[in-house]
Amino acid sequence: MRLIEAATLDAVRRALADGAVVLGGGTRLLADGQSPPVLLDLRRLPGASDLSSGADGSLWVGSAVSLTRLERAVRSTFPAIAEAVRLMGSPVFRNLATVLGRLANREPVSDLYPPMRLAGARVLVIDPAGGPAWHPLSYQGRIYGPHRAWLALVIPPPSFLLMRFVKMARTRLNGAIVNGGVLIADDGVKAVLSGVGPEPWEGDCAGNPQTALANLAARWREYLTVDGPRIEDFRAAPAYREALGRVLWEQLAAAVPAPSKRQAKEA
Ligand SMILES: Cc1cc2nc3c(=O)[nH]c(=O)nc-3n(C[C@H](O)[C@H](O)[C@H](O)COP(=O)(O)OP(=O)(O)OC[C@H]3O[C@@H](n4cnc5c(N)ncnc54)[C@H](O)[C@@H]3O)c2cc1C
Repeated sequence: MRLIEAATLDAVRRALADGAVVLGGGTRLLADGQSPPVLLDLRRLPGASDLSSGADGSLWVGSAVSLTRLERAVRSTFPAIAEAVRLMGSPVFRNLATVLGRLANREPVSDLYPPMRLAGARVLVIDPAGGPAWHPLSYQGRIYGPHRAWLALVIPPPSFLLMRFVKMARTRLNGAIVNGGVLIADDGVKAVLSGVGPEPWEGDCAGNPQTALANLAARWREYLTVDGPRIEDFRAAPAYREALGRVLWEQLAAAVPAPSKRQAKEA
């Protein structure tokens, strides 16, 4: 196994063109005796270890920043992101795994994706042909796959009223079977659920939180009953999907405070 410790963007582009695989914390990449022939380490690049706030309140997260460091930095500004991190693996795992490694690891279920997507995170991506360029963090984007390195992630300053994260797993610190995030803003509600198909389900709805949430849950139930893309495991079974929908939306609704009597009257 060869390790390239790139200190310039040109060196990153060359290594990616030669098929080097980007190394985060190695918790997935090097698990179970795997050893890719060429690894690309980004830690010597400027900004890789930075976790800092910009003048506009946005948060820069470099490629070497661990989950532990992120959790401490966002406790007061993005409690839902901090909660998602706290529920991931053990403290040792969270010290090793990087924020970008978790997100670049494109699996059907990711505990960090829903709250990061809802927060409007963007990622700085470079490939052998060009960049670095900013892209929205999204499973729909061309940011995943080989020959790409994520250099940083930026979370814009919070501009929502409330964000919540819920996770359903076998035990508290296991990877989720499914999870979901919900964001309440002045003009409506957004939800992102992962582990419900090969890619997360995302929806938004205008209106007051409780009504918008109920509308989203109804749309979600339609998604569950149509013959769309499914994860090829127990999550594909109709009975499971039905039970899943019920419990997940109950948990999301419970995570959102009910409106006060006055608010309900105004709505
Ligand atoms: C004990 C344990 C518990 C876990 N618990 C959870 C959990 O509760 N919830 C959950 O969601 N996940 C969990 N995970 C899984 C998690 O999927 C990954 O192990 C971890 O997030 C990967 O982060 P890493 O920094 O170690 O990346 P690595 O293992 O180094 O890399 C993972 C993948 O991402 C790519 N990659 C890494 N960094 C970059 C980058 N900067 N640019 C481009 N590509 C990159 C690598 O090439 C590789 O394909 C757990 C894993 C373990 C081992």
